[in-house]
Amino acid sequence: MTAQRIVIKVGSHVLTQEGAIAKVRMFALVEFIAQLKAKEYEVILVSSGAVAAGFTQLPLDRSSVANKQALAAIGQPYLLKMYQEKFEIFDLLCSQVLLRADVFDSAEHMNHAKVAIDTLLENNVVPIINENDTVSIEELIFGDNDRLSAHVAHHFDAPFLVILSDINAFYDKDPNKYADAKQRKVVNALLKEELEAEHNPNNEFATGGIVTKLQAADFMMKHGKEMFLASGFDLSDVKSYLLDGVHESGTLFKA
Ligand code: ADP
Repeated sequence: MTAQRIVIKVGSHVLTQEGAIAKVRMFALVEFIAQLKAKEYEVILVSSGAVAAGFTQLPLDRSSVANKQALAAIGQPYLLKMYQEKFEIFDLLCSQVLLRADVFDSAEHMNHAKVAIDTLLENNVVPIINENDTVSIEELIFGDNDRLSAHVAHHFDAPFLVILSDINAFYDKDPNKYADAKQRKVVNALLKEELEAEHNPNNEFATGGIVTKLQAADFMMKHGKEMFLASGFDLSDVKSYLLDGVHESGTLFKA
């Protein structure tokens, strides 16, 4: 059986709790990745959380760009250390790959990065990707890991992207505002209005909101790939889908 390559993106809401790294949820995620790997999946993880992890070590004012860059620099190795400790429990190695948005525009850089990712995966190592916030220039940054993860899936040959969020699916309207919002189980196409709605992240560490997730889904579908949006707080839906092949809940974006 050839391995199926997937990208999993986990948002800062899921990874942080009251300003600190949510260790229990991080452990659950690592355990899930270990289960996927046992099922012959090759997994690339795109993880936010560096700024939040940095803030737990040095509470600088996050409203300045310079401080955020400093916090990312402090938090990134700290975040990786926590991942490393958890992957070790499952006898797995993980690795850090920091990308800049402009890497995707250069065939040469991309080939270089792809060789590294392929080599890591061949050796059963989990690449953990994040945007290199410390060196990214404002105009170059994705600013959110949703679109970054779609580019990662596309360029590193993964047909499937999973976004684990604070929300368990895509709804017909914002479920945090409307009690009668209904889940959409399968989405085949997105409307221009849905892709251009105002960014509305609802936590100070989150910069994505639903719109960037839809943009990621749109990018995947346009490239003949699929995306699954599910809860990162409770992994049961994504587990049913990927481990048991049962679509209980969560949104599948498939053209
Ligand atoms: P993360 O931190 O996981 O990247 P965000 O908080 O940035 O996630 O984005 C998800 C949020 O988007 C949800 O908590 C929800 O309040 C909001 N949202 C707005 N419209 C919708 C919708 N139609 N379906 C689902 N979530 C929506």
